[in-house]
Amino acid sequence: MCPRIAIVALVLAVTAVPGQAFGKSAKTIPAGELVLAGTPVRCGAARTVVTGLGEVAMTYPGYILLDPTLFSMPPAIQHFWYAHECAHQLFGYGELAADCWAIQTGKRLGWFGIGDLEWLEANAIRMRSDAEHPQAAVRLANLENCYAAAPDARPAKRVVVAFASGF
Ligand SMILES: [Zn+2]
Repeated sequence: MCPRIAIVALVLAVTAVPGQAFGKSAKTIPAGELVLAGTPVRCGAARTVVTGLGEVAMTYPGYILLDPTLFSMPPAIQHFWYAHECAHQLFGYGELAADCWAIQTGKRLGWFGIGDLEWLEANAIRMRSDAEHPQAAVRLANLENCYAAAPDARPAKRVVVAFASGF
């Protein structure tokens, strides 16, 4: 859920092969080829690495890292976390801004609803709190405000997921 650039960059400097840098079981998926909860998703030119992380997702410049546990979450939640990491990729946002962009994009495009926000609230324990990450209560309050402020999905514009730099 955060850009651990310093740590990851150190690992990459040693191996220079991102897919292998995260363990032999890591799988690298080219941009545009990731299917998440049955839906093709893309975040600009970012590749995806699937590997054990100890948290649901992380960002490294050019890569979105996903933990396999993400795939057992509801589809909208999978897309939310991918969008959160995509916000780091595209805009360099901090945690609260990335949360806001993800939930507002989901509401506007019709793939994230109030029930999905309730799921996040009920599973807030998954939200890590440390120097980079505000406490879960702060993040949830921010998510509620961002969700309320976003326009409802417009059916004529409904797209499931389409994260791209020109979006
Ligand atoms: Zn993050």
